[in-house]
Formats: sequence, structure tokens, C-alpha cells
Amino acid sequence: MALGPSIAVIGRGLIGSAAARHLAANGHDVTLVGPAEPKEKREHQGVFGSHYDEGRITRRNATDRYWAEASIASIARYGEIERSSGIGFFSPVGALMAGADDGEFLGDARQVSAELSILHQDLRADQLGEVIPDLTLQSGWSALWEPEESGHISPRRLVAAQTKLAAADGATLLDVAVTGLEETASGARIQTADGSEVFDRVLVAAGGMTDHVLGRAPSYRVCGRTVALFELTEAEAERLGYLPSLVMGTPEGHYLLPPIRYPDGNIYMKLGGDPDDILLWSPRDIGDWFRCGGRAEVRDDQEARFRALFPGVKVVSVTMDACMTTWTDDLRPEIARLSDRIFVASAGNGAGAKCSDELGRRGAALVTDDFLEG
Ligand SMILES: Cc1cc2nc3c(=O)[nH]c(=O)nc-3n(C[C@H](O)[C@H](O)[C@H](O)COP(=O)(O)OP(=O)(O)OC[C@H]3O[C@@H](n4cnc5c(N)ncnc54)[C@H](O)[C@@H]3O)c2cc1C
Repeated sequence: MALGPSIAVIGRGLIGSAAARHLAANGHDVTLVGPAEPKEKREHQGVFGSHYDEGRITRRNATDRYWAEASIASIARYGEIERSSGIGFFSPVGALMAGADDGEFLGDARQVSAELSILHQDLRADQLGEVIPDLTLQSGWSALWEPEESGHISPRRLVAAQTKLAAADGATLLDVAVTGLEETASGARIQTADGSEVFDRVLVAAGGMTDHVLGRAPSYRVCGRTVALFELTEAEAERLGYLPSLVMGTPEGHYLLPPIRYPDGNIYMKLGGDPDDILLWSPRDIGDWFRCGGRAEVRDDQEARFRALFPGVKVVSVTMDACMTTWTDDLRPEIARLSDRIFVASAGNGAGAKCSDELGRRGAALVTDDFLEG
């Protein structure tokens, strides 16, 4: 039975559900508050999140050691989360980081992988052609290939697994959005459409909505993102089944997910990377962005890039989707104590899915690390 101070986690996304799992597993009295994914995004008038998808790249290596260490810690726990929840979310197809051979992107990635002893192969363009014949990189580029413990995860299924395990360990789930958060002498009061409840401590993990839940001035850059989805036939998807995930050192940070089956039954490859930032300042901006479904001109640019990267791939149709990323000035997540009662674990900086279990664990640890001291 959970004892001690009551803790609410606001946000049933990747970081919040991970935090709730860690808190519940350690015997804490935890309530996870947040709505599920909207059924009809185009019509939805409530809050939105960044994990409504089937593919997020996961890899241990990164250009910044912080992200690599958080990812290594998370990936090491994927197997246990899958086994204990009975929900699979990890496809270990490998991952490539590609860029100009003498550029900063690959230079930084080579340094991090050397420092952390991350198993990889450094492939020049001619070697890459042997390993991944369907991929055509621009001249002068090469790639770091991480064949193991990398690939892609389903963010939807990871949230489902974390939530299931948190509930199994006694967490209470409230399927509702928070409309107010107030700190009082006796606790932190959370307001929802169902009423209000007071907790001893609150961890806000509401992604792009975090500033608004906290009621503070904008501290993040919340950016509207467009992705292009390339539908494949079953046969083409099977032929391309050997493809790893791909991150590219372009100024726009382009990336590609290999063939993945989506809930509509179709198989898609996905390419992302935006030429500029659409800044989403208010909850209304965020809602309008998701409801609009993305920018056609960005999708067209992504399609041209896809065709250049994979000239031989047969595409059935091209569609697009909208998402948001949440950025801090130092390009690291905000995992912080804001007061004696309010804590925050947010801002994935476009990279927070793969390592969300560790970011959630760190948030959970911050909320509880002084409990023993009384
Ligand atoms: C197009 C795209 C591609 C990406 N690709 C990758 C990738 O390849 N690899 C990678 O590692 N990362 C990737 N990311 C980033 C990753 O998805 C995010 O970093 C991650 O989702 C952040 O997790 P989070 O828990 O902070 O936010 P979210 O997953 O967005 O969760 C926030 C939750 O808060 C809830 N919420 C909001 N407001 C309220 C409220 N008022 N009350 C209660 N709950 C609320 C939302 O409903 C949501 O469930 C990508 C992001 C995008 C948009």
C-alpha cells in the first residue's frame, strides 16, 4: 500500500507516464492526471501532446553527451518494460547518423560514441552503398551506423506500457485535463472539469503545454512541426524491411523512419525536418496548429528530399501530419524544483521520446529525494 506524501503527475505523455511508473514502483502515493490521445485531432478542442504517432527514432549515440547518457539508461530498461507490461514498443532495426564527413554533426557524434564506448561502424559513402543500397546520400557524406540497441519505438505503445505498469503498482489515473494549479499553505491544488484535489507535491510533465499549466510566462519555444508520410505497398515495405532509422546533419535536422505499420493498417516511411519555426505561444495556437494538420509546402520539400534519398522506392501516396516540439535555451530538458511543492520534467527538445523513461525517472527522483530526510 502506498504511503507518505501524495504526488500528482500532470501529463500522461512520455515523460509523465514514465515518472508515474517510477514513483509507483517505489511505493509512492501517485496520481497521474491527463487525457488520452484525442480520437479526432481535427475536431478536438482540448489539450494536445507530442506522442500521437507510431515512430520515434531511438539510438544511444547523440551529438550531446547528456542525451546519449539519458538514452543509454532508458534503452537498457526497454526490455523489462516490454516484458512486465506485455506491450511491445521497441523495433531494434538499428540507426544511422549521417552528415558531411568532416562536419560538426558527425565530429560531435564520433566524440560522444568514443567517450561512452557506443558500438558503431563508421561507414564511408561507398561502404554505405553496400550496407544500405536503397539510400543515396549527398556526396561528401558518411554515416555512423549503430546496429544494436537502436531503431525506433512506438511512442503510443510506450505511454500505454508505462501507464499500465504505474496503475499495476497502485497509481491512480485521472483521465482529464488540468485547468488550474494553485499552491497553498497546505498543498498544491489541481483543478479539473471534475473538481479540485489537493496534493502534497505536483510534477508537471505537460510537454508543450507546461508553461500554460504552470501559469508562467513562456519559457520554452514550442514549435509546430510537419512530417511527410510515404505510404508503401506490402511488397515494397517487406523489401525495405532492412532499413534502419536515419538522422541527418542538415541545418533543419532532417530524419527518417523506416517502414512502420500505422493504425489505419497501412505501412509508411516518415520524413521530418522543418525549414523554419512556427512558434505556438498559446493553448489556442497549439490547438489551431494540430487541427490544421501541417504545412503543404513543408511536406512538398520533404517529399523532394525523400525522392533524392530513396530514388528507387515506390510510393503509393504522400500525406502529412502536424506535431509540436518544445525547446529550452540550453537544449536540455527542464527537470527542476520550482518550489517546495511544484516540480517540472519537460521540454524534450525534439529528442525526448527515446530517453523519456530516464527523464521521467529523474523527475520522479527530484520530487522524492528529500522524503527520507523528513
Ligand atoms: C514530429 C516529431 C518527431 C519526433 N521525433 C523524435 C524522435 O525520433 N526521437 C525522439 O527521441 N524524440 C522525438 N520527438 C520528440 C518527442 O516526441 C518528445 O520529446 C516527447 O513526446 C516529449 O515527451 P513529453 O512527455 O514531454 O510530452 P508529451 O509526450 O507531449 O506529453 C505531454 C502530455 O501532457 C498532456 N497535457 C497537456 N496539457 C495538459 C493539461 N492541461 N492537463 C493534463 N495533461 C496535459 C498531453 O495530453 C500529453 O499527453 C519528436 C517530436 C515530434 C513532434
